[in-house]
Amino acid sequence: MTETLADFLDRLNHEIRLAGDWGSVADYIPELARVDPAQFGIAVALPDGRLLTAGDAETGFSIQSVSKVFSLAAVLGRIGEQLWLRVGREPSGDRFDSILLLEQEKGRPRNPFINAGALVVTDELLTGRTPRQALSELLGFIRAAAEDDAIHIDKAVARSEAETGHRNAALVHYLRSYGNLRNPPDHALGTYIHHCAIEMSCVQLARAGRFLAGLPDAPRMIAPRKVRRINALMMTCGQYDGSGNFAFRVGMPAKSGVGGGLLVIAPGKASIGIWSPGLDGWGNSLAGTLAAERLAEVTGWSVFG
Ligand code: GLU
Repeated sequence: MTETLADFLDRLNHEIRLAGDWGSVADYIPELARVDPAQFGIAVALPDGRLLTAGDAETGFSIQSVSKVFSLAAVLGRIGEQLWLRVGREPSGDRFDSILLLEQEKGRPRNPFINAGALVVTDELLTGRTPRQALSELLGFIRAAAEDDAIHIDKAVARSEAETGHRNAALVHYLRSYGNLRNPPDHALGTYIHHCAIEMSCVQLARAGRFLAGLPDAPRMIAPRKVRRINALMMTCGQYDGSGNFAFRVGMPAKSGVGGGLLVIAPGKASIGIWSPGLDGWGNSLAGTLAAERLAEVTGWSVFG
């Protein structure tokens, strides 16, 4: 008998725990350094409405940069193409928090997923809104996408990043010096830090990603043309300077966060939330990437056939 997807996820969970190869948790945000790396969860939302899970799929974690997918979707939904005057669409090949290219490219960040680009997206989110309003709009967007009002911001994580996030503070001021930040730097930074501190489980993440996978039961959040573009950016830029390697191994659009979360999209087939807090050298979940790779092998969900 061939193995069902549910059985495969159980086996995968078992094998990942047995291997015990967890990587190390991000420690530049002190609150994230306290998380036990030996955890793994996966949730897969399917077109027939089923949601398969294994491991710690219900445990909440800090989604960090996975939130950049939702802020980009919210902003593209609101202003559309104008965003590209302020942010590029090319992979950076540099670290997620790098300031290097920003000088060469006169304050226009390479893409919306590196920190500088996400800060510009957050600045757009703030247009005509206070930081509190912008955050509640974004949280509302994510709750609507997941159809789950329990999704919230972890204030302790936000506080912890606010106390130590000097690089992002440098980036907002640098952007402002080029005229590519319209709001006060501390508003953009505070709003960004708080949306990175949103807590979700794999189940909530898989449900929130259904609109990106075009699943029939997904709430309609933005136009399909914009969904395609977000998927393209996730494929080329979603894991920072590890994006090429991820595309090579997994072949699906995805976005990682330093909390160890991964949102992986199999267009038309599945929305997948994965979490394991230990990271590889690029800042992407070590066991999470392996799980995505194994899932792609077994299902044939790579977009490259
Ligand atoms: N809040 C984190 C930072 O700006 C997000 C980084 C990430 O998840 O990759 O450093």
